[in-house]
Amino acid sequence: MDNRKIFAVAMLVFMAVSIMIPVQVSHAAALDDLVGSLATSTMSSSGSNAADGGFFNNIFGLLFDKILGPIFNIFGGKSDTTTNPGKVTPLPESGGVQNSGVLQGKTIVIDPGHGGSNPGAVDNNTRESDNNLAVGLKIRDKLVQAGAKVAMTRSSDKTVAAEGSTLGEELQARLDIAQANNADIFVSVHSNSNTDSSITGAMTFYPNGNSSNALASAVQSSVIRQTGAVDKGTSPATYYVLRNASMPAILVEMGFVSNAAEAARLQEDSYRNQMAQGIVDGIVKYFNNN
Ligand SMILES: [Zn+2]
Repeated sequence: MDNRKIFAVAMLVFMAVSIMIPVQVSHAAALDDLVGSLATSTMSSSGSNAADGGFFNNIFGLLFDKILGPIFNIFGGKSDTTTNPGKVTPLPESGGVQNSGVLQGKTIVIDPGHGGSNPGAVDNNTRESDNNLAVGLKIRDKLVQAGAKVAMTRSSDKTVAAEGSTLGEELQARLDIAQANNADIFVSVHSNSNTDSSITGAMTFYPNGNSSNALASAVQSSVIRQTGAVDKGTSPATYYVLRNASMPAILVEMGFVSNAAEAARLQEDSYRNQMAQGIVDGIVKYFNNN
């Protein structure tokens, strides 16, 4: 038998099986085994990999690649997997995961850095304050979905204290919100900048004392897992909102707007979503252990 005959027979078998449509998994698997060897020995030259998915995948592969594809011109080469080196696949975790229940009854303050007349770091057509707000709002949504109470220091492009206030007043206004809400943790979100435009990566700062260090470690590792960003680690720091917070607090520097590629990623909705998911995963991890 030549390959075409095998293919024709295979198509008939496939069609027959398709007609009896609610094929149970066990049936499909059995048929897979039966025809598997046939498929491997005769179709290996077609380019389909029988080892991957067996008979059905071969048939589907042939059907779409060789027949329907060219006809409809929709499965053509271009849409193939072009992987972005800066991205990784992870996402699910917090939301559906069994341990997200730990957020029930927790109050979390999310502090998108800067805003209004103070855009923070500006480079490569990116305003830090915009990144911070976009990711902050996504964090809020994910936390609320997981059962937490969330207070935002700002949820629009504005300063938190009245415009014209001193930097100290502005930062204190953010902590006042945490205090007023009796927050369990305070999470400040920022974007970084450096005169060396080759520097990239995410890092998390924490004040010494209480369990801020543990919160920083949990968030940092989850952010790296979700985003694939360069891991610049955690570090103690004395930023105003960290040293004056009365609850565990961290400041996440999500990436460098001074690096063109990272600045571009920080403006992508999908990347912001992964960043937010990483921060939320870390918060869940923290509450599981503290
Ligand atoms: Zn900042």
